[in-house]
Amino acid sequence: MTVKTRFAPSPTGYLHIGGVRTALFSWAFARHHQGEFLLRIEDTDLARSTAESVKVIMDGIDWVGLNYDNAGNVVYQTQRFDRYKEVVAELLESGHAYYCYCSKEELEAMREKAEREGTATYDRRWRPEAGKTLPDIPADVQPVVRFKTPLTGDTSWTDLVKGEISFPNEALDDLIIARADGSPTYNFCVVVDDFDMGVTHVIRGDDHVNNTPKQINILKAMGADVPAYGHLPMILNEQGKKISKRSGDTVAITDFGAMGILPEAMLNYLARLGWAHGDDEFFTMEQFVEWFDLKDVSPSPSRMDMKKLLWINGEHIKITPNDTLADMIRHRLEAKGITETAAPALTDVIALVKDRAQDLNALAEECVYFYQKQVPAEADVAKHWDDDAADRMLRFAGKLESLNEWTTENIHSLFKPFCDEEGIKMGKLGMPLRLAVCGTAKTPSVDAVLALIGKDEVLKRIRS
Ligand code: GLU
Repeated sequence: MTVKTRFAPSPTGYLHIGGVRTALFSWAFARHHQGEFLLRIEDTDLARSTAESVKVIMDGIDWVGLNYDNAGNVVYQTQRFDRYKEVVAELLESGHAYYCYCSKEELEAMREKAEREGTATYDRRWRPEAGKTLPDIPADVQPVVRFKTPLTGDTSWTDLVKGEISFPNEALDDLIIARADGSPTYNFCVVVDDFDMGVTHVIRGDDHVNNTPKQINILKAMGADVPAYGHLPMILNEQGKKISKRSGDTVAITDFGAMGILPEAMLNYLARLGWAHGDDEFFTMEQFVEWFDLKDVSPSPSRMDMKKLLWINGEHIKITPNDTLADMIRHRLEAKGITETAAPALTDVIALVKDRAQDLNALAEECVYFYQKQVPAEADVAKHWDDDAADRMLRFAGKLESLNEWTTENIHSLFKPFCDEEGIKMGKLGMPLRLAVCGTAKTPSVDAVLALIGKDEVLKRIRS
């Protein structure tokens, strides 16, 4: 049996970080089993679904790099109405569904009664049973189609994450599968799609646990094999509450991109939200796929930890090739008015500073002073720029000028003799030199920084 999983987002806004984690686990499960990972767009809610949001979701999935196997053939529910109608007709034909002619008022009365008595909402008035006389069909009511849920027994499954789950059938309603206008309802579409797509493992958020018994019963009535289900617990914010934009949480996957998170780091971090492989924190997606098993997913919710995300991001920055990082930060530098001139090459700058940055914005920030001297912070000036500093820097510029070959080593070789000559400690050279050349005290080794910036530019900056 080929394992088939799917990610089935509803395109009603942005791509939520929880959605990406669901997609990631579905994807990893399929890849681990050499199976297929399929994408389905659940866009039947015409009032809330937009083409824009479909694009945002697809761009988000592409950005993190979760490749789905039906790229040329993504399933859109809105393109499948004929098929849903066909299955409704089949279920009516086989006696697993029936027309219900209840009016709004009747349903309202039932709801009130059910609330009072704590029973299933619909009293099954139109459900055909042997020996039962149904009411007369009213002339002015367009019927809905209801599914004939079994009256006794339980609907149970062994959830791949949560273990045994069971619902008594008597608590489940005869749910509506087609509305009066003929349009199919949510749970019904999901079932028909999962069946037609041959989905073997449904991996989704645990907000769908209550839908699962309904879906299982419909699948059984269709004579379909019931897939395995694994329900993933929620991701909570750092305060342990539901993640929400309104509470100021970063939610949309694009916002993490704007924060300078690398796609691989995002996936690495999300993989660890609710899943563990020993103490491993930092790993590649190849390793994740190799290790991934739903039995290692925790059944309880996990919490966002931005500090950890940034740490993992920093680790990924370290192992990302410099030219890839250059492509990722070029537009960030351009936004600061910096266009890469011939020297220094951005990749060389990145090689020197990449260990210092935990996100791409910080990385861009670390590159700025190689191209443009910054205005030093007052606190740095107060701390490192004494009365003699300006003259001392000019004296040191003279030494720099005398170098024939402009290399880190040669620049370095000037430091000790100069300090001895001046009777100062290295701090009195290094820090003012950073301020004079870079405009910031926070740089890597100053000899390497000067070497990259270039002789003419360094002398110009000190002497200006
Ligand atoms: N469209 C549903 C959602 O976005 C997912 C349904 C499913 O995975 O079965 O929550």
